[in-house]
Amino acid sequence: MPPNRRAFLAATTASVLTTTASTPAVAAPRSRPATARAALDELLAGNRRYAAGRPRHPHEERARRHVLAAGQHPFAVVVGCIDSRVPPELVFDQGIGDLLCIRTAGQVLDEAVLASVQYGVEELGVPLVLVLGHERCGAVAATLEHLRTGAPVPGHLALLVDEITPAALRTRAVPGDWADHTVRAHAAWVRDAIRADPAFTAAHVAAARFDLDSSLVTLLP
Ligand SMILES: [Zn+2]
Repeated sequence: MPPNRRAFLAATTASVLTTTASTPAVAAPRSRPATARAALDELLAGNRRYAAGRPRHPHEERARRHVLAAGQHPFAVVVGCIDSRVPPELVFDQGIGDLLCIRTAGQVLDEAVLASVQYGVEELGVPLVLVLGHERCGAVAATLEHLRTGAPVPGHLALLVDEITPAALRTRAVPGDWADHTVRAHAAWVRDAIRADPAFTAAHVAAARFDLDSSLVTLLP
C-alpha cells in the first residue's frame, strides 16, 4: 500500500475511533440498504417521490447530523455530472450521509474519480455504484459540436471531449437524437469501465439516465 494511502486510512480510522470514544451516548447510525438491489430500490423510490413532487427530504435533521459525526455509512456511490439541474441527493430524495457523490462534467472518469469510487467501495463497503448520465448534457453537446465543426476545444475541456468522443462516434449513424444516443452510450461505457476494473468487484455497478423533462431516472440496459 502506498505510504500516502496508508497514512490517510490511519488518520481516518483514528478519527473515527477518537470521535466514537468521546461520544458514547450517540446511537449507531440507522441501518442502510445492505445489498445492491436494496440500494437501487431505495434510489429509484426516492426518485419517484422527487419526480412526483412529493420529496421527504430525509436525514437532514440535527440529530441525524450528530450521529453521523461519528462515522459515515453511505449506501450508494453516484458518479454523475456537475450539471446544476441534476444534484443526486435531491434527484434521489436522500439526505446527509446517504450518498457518496462524485461529479465531473459529463461524468467522465479520471484517476481522482476512480480513487474516489474505490474509497467508497473498499473502505466504506458501499454495495452499489450508479453512473448517472442525463438528458441535454452540456459536455456531450460540446463534444458533438467539436465533431460536427472540427472547431478546436479550449484548454481543459479537451479531456471531456476525448472521453465522450468514443460514445459519440459509436452512435453517430444511429437514427434519431444523436445527443441522447451519446448520453446513453457514454454512461454505459463509464459503467462498463468501472465494472471491468478489478478494484471494484465488491460492488454492483449500474448506469442510468436522468430525464430533465420528467425528472425520472431510468436504468440503462
Ligand atoms: Zn451534464
